[in-house]
Amino acid sequence: MKKVFGTGTLLTAILAGALTLAAAPPIPVMLLDGEQGGPYHAWQETTPYLKKMLDETKVFNVDVVTAPPAGGDFTRFKPEFSKYKVIVSNYDVPDERWSAELKESFEQYIKNGGGLVAVHAADNAFPKWVAYNEMIGIGGWRGRDEKSGPLWYFKDGQLVSDPSPGRAGSHGARLGYKIVNQNTTHPITKGLPKEWLHVPDELYATLRGPGKNMTVLSTAFSIRSNRGTDRDEPILMVLAYGKGRIFHTVMGHDLAALNCVGFIATFQRGTEWAATGKVKQKLPADFPTADKVSTRPGYAPPAGWTSPGGRPAPRAAKPAA
Ligand code: ZN
Repeated sequence: MKKVFGTGTLLTAILAGALTLAAAPPIPVMLLDGEQGGPYHAWQETTPYLKKMLDETKVFNVDVVTAPPAGGDFTRFKPEFSKYKVIVSNYDVPDERWSAELKESFEQYIKNGGGLVAVHAADNAFPKWVAYNEMIGIGGWRGRDEKSGPLWYFKDGQLVSDPSPGRAGSHGARLGYKIVNQNTTHPITKGLPKEWLHVPDELYATLRGPGKNMTVLSTAFSIRSNRGTDRDEPILMVLAYGKGRIFHTVMGHDLAALNCVGFIATFQRGTEWAATGKVKQKLPADFPTADKVSTRPGYAPPAGWTSPGGRPAPRAAKPAA
């Protein structure tokens, strides 16, 4: 009798567990694109790969929302931000592209607890929009300089801000580089190797901004011989803006850069964290290590693909440091 009761309890527990799993609704995600200044970024190419990364987790339900192009009709572009738990931005435009009303609706959404993920060139966008720069913490290019805020980097293991004057935003040739997790207790980086290798990508440096409510999770050393700063530059950051959570990754220049399990996993985890404040996804077994990059066949750029912008592909696939 006791045994039967025990089995029944177990079955009930399994059923209840299955129901709980089945009942967990997917996290609604808006993947925003439509423009990325200059010929060096190709959102039409990268968006499907970013979507695939999120779809594969079965954690998210992703809608791609494409903003009108430069000179397009923005009068009917009123994204329903509040339908989503998180906005993933693969979007880089100048300040004047969005009306004050559109900016205000986005600010309200984040302030009230919406999530934002800024991928690579998204931190070039909107140099003069104060709230946006508070959300992303640091950014580069589009005329940013010391008026945009200090430089932020790591020195002797600590995040420092440096008011030295100068332009914001730089990078050398696309080489592999080593990521160092400065914070190993945050849900996004918890359990990751302390150090791991990223595939050839732009290593953003000399980024500037308000840096308010910003925690830098990971850095990479910007080597002088590759037009670098000789400093540990921020690579992954989390920020708070009102009740909203922001995850900011500077990786992901092009399709070759996206084919890195380190990028994929931190992007998936960062998106879940920005949406919910938690990370339930398990770390993939093929995560890169301190001396070995990791790619996946399913994310290999198509045959004949070349990086946009007419620059030659990097010759060295070996990490710079
Ligand atoms: Zn880039």
